[in-house]
Amino acid sequence: MDDFYIGIDLGGTTIKFGLINNDGLVKEKWHIKTNSDNLGEQILPDIINSIEKHLLKNKNRDSIKAIGMGSPGSINSIKGTVSGAFNLNWTTEQPLKERIESAFKIPFFVDNDANVAALGERWMGAGEKSNDVVFVTLGTGIGGGIIANGHLIHGIAGSGGEIGHLIVEPNGYLCTCGNRGCLETIASASGIARIADEISHKDHNGKLAKAAQKEAIDAKVVFDLAKANDSSALKVVDQITYYLALGLSQIADMLNPKYIIIGGGISQSGTFLIDHINKYFPNFVFPNVRETTSLKLAKLGNSAGILGAAYLAKIGLQKKRGNI
Ligand SMILES: [Zn+2]
Repeated sequence: MDDFYIGIDLGGTTIKFGLINNDGLVKEKWHIKTNSDNLGEQILPDIINSIEKHLLKNKNRDSIKAIGMGSPGSINSIKGTVSGAFNLNWTTEQPLKERIESAFKIPFFVDNDANVAALGERWMGAGEKSNDVVFVTLGTGIGGGIIANGHLIHGIAGSGGEIGHLIVEPNGYLCTCGNRGCLETIASASGIARIADEISHKDHNGKLAKAAQKEAIDAKVVFDLAKANDSSALKVVDQITYYLALGLSQIADMLNPKYIIIGGGISQSGTFLIDHINKYFPNFVFPNVRETTSLKLAKLGNSAGILGAAYLAKIGLQKKRGNI
């Protein structure tokens, strides 16, 4: 009988679940709404109930060997706890591992959502099972997950891979982290909107300025206008992709991964985005890195979280059994 894992992708609005086998085949998937009322006290019981309901329907319950989860916030992957997940209203430490393992009597593993998405893309997506891949998610913020020599990089306090806070402009905009000029202040959704706003003020007759009069400009509007060759939207794209290339080149030189995989909402602008980053990227990197590291779009979309969480469970279990 095939071994199965439950992969959980815990997000601020929905919690996604997948029942996934050893080869990454998703046998079932389902989701529930995230109820973050009352300091998110219902989230953990809701997760346990939802798995319980699914297990009751599953005749092969014994084939499910472990549970994995990707979560926002600060993760202690050894203790299996999460704290400071503000979009879930979790302010105090949540004992996920303790509760889930006592409910189901199988091992539970948790890591941060960007790391877990990196594992998913490495296993079943754009990473092609390579031992050296970096995943960058461009969305409301910028997150990252680094896999080097086959291992996720956590650092000593779990902040390894905070790619969004690489400083690319020392005197730049103030970031939510307190520093100035982090990549996130430029190439996240809000960063792009701010640069678009500035450029549309200087160039009042362009389509971007006209769009700004009608609605708040978001990254999608910018990329759609740039694809239609609007000169001010192209200036915005040029500026953000210059800084993205600069930030990603530092990662490339440091780690020389096979791929730097770009995902998240902004990556929906597709090869247009990659082509623009590639206008600058090769000039910023060390020659041998230029030949061997490439930029690539993520493939799994919303499924990266559940697949990565199942993979986290699979490798976690192997380590626990002493197989690797
Ligand atoms: Zn920052």
